[in-house]
Amino acid sequence: MIGATFPALYGLLGYPLGHTLSPPMHQAALAALGLPGTYEALPVPADRLAGAMAGVRAWRLPGLSVTIPHKVAVMAYLDEVTPLAQRIGAVNTIYWDGDKLCGDNTDYAGFRACLPPGTVAGQAVTVLGAGGAARAAVLALADEGAARVHLVARRQAAAEALRDQLLPGEQAGAIVPFEDLPELQRILAESRLVVNATPLGMHGKTAPLPGDALAALPADAHVMDMIYAPAETPLMAAARARGLAVSNGAEMLLHQAAFAFERWTGAQAPLAAMREALHAGLAEVDETRRTP
Ligand code: NAP
Repeated sequence: MIGATFPALYGLLGYPLGHTLSPPMHQAALAALGLPGTYEALPVPADRLAGAMAGVRAWRLPGLSVTIPHKVAVMAYLDEVTPLAQRIGAVNTIYWDGDKLCGDNTDYAGFRACLPPGTVAGQAVTVLGAGGAARAAVLALADEGAARVHLVARRQAAAEALRDQLLPGEQAGAIVPFEDLPELQRILAESRLVVNATPLGMHGKTAPLPGDALAALPADAHVMDMIYAPAETPLMAAARARGLAVSNGAEMLLHQAAFAFERWTGAQAPLAAMREALHAGLAEVDETRRTP
């Protein structure tokens, strides 16, 4: 909610903050609606989080996004955390509810808003990774009525905790290590959707799944990568080469930002303006990557 805020500063708390597309998206949203304020990257190392959060209260900053490494630690500095963010175990949006400083997780709704139609309800799906984004995705997939959610993870303990906490018995699928090709092929053979919630593919040519595993997917499967830069990850390129439908994380990024903006301002997010700013920013990132 817009309050008597001085300065009307919105921002992103994280560290380090390299290329971030949140400022252009939120600046565009404020400008499109003629709302006062500015949105800045606010790099804060972990050992200064307490001080930064005291500043948020002192200046009553109207809204913040939160990214690595603060998504869990920031909860200790809030008056309330939504039940959804508590279940996910991570906060990515801070807002005021009256005099209470609150935390929510809009990755869940952002992910849910861009699920390919027909790929989840009543279907088996596979999620790669067991971190914060995977937890938001798994909860959304369970709520969308997935028949089974399989997990592919490096740390079995994290995947087991995720499954036990977020998936009711009948939706709990297998937990498979990345290197177990026969088991990967077994779960992928029945999966209509694969979601990459690891950073694998962000840099270089590493795909989280080998080609032999992807070959097991049904012809009508969809491969969704949460990564948005590069626009086509090695996983997406391999899936596309197999003739499968693919998407990257740009729409999820857009929608999680839009839900956060709505929390802060009470106004409907101007999606078209935000999308335009996002794609202009993504084109710049691609250009930077091409520059030697
Ligand atoms: P996170 O909490 O750090 O979790 C990362 C997950 O990936 C963990 O399960 C981690 O396993 C696994 N992982 C990392 N490196 C790996 C490797 N070399 N081999 C196998 N597994 C590996 O991060 P997050 O916040 O969930 O983000 C995950 C990805 O989603 C990032 O690329 C992020 O940019 C993207 N994301 C996109 C959006 C969007 O809006 N599009 C939103 C949120 C996140 P360990 O536990 O073993 O380390």
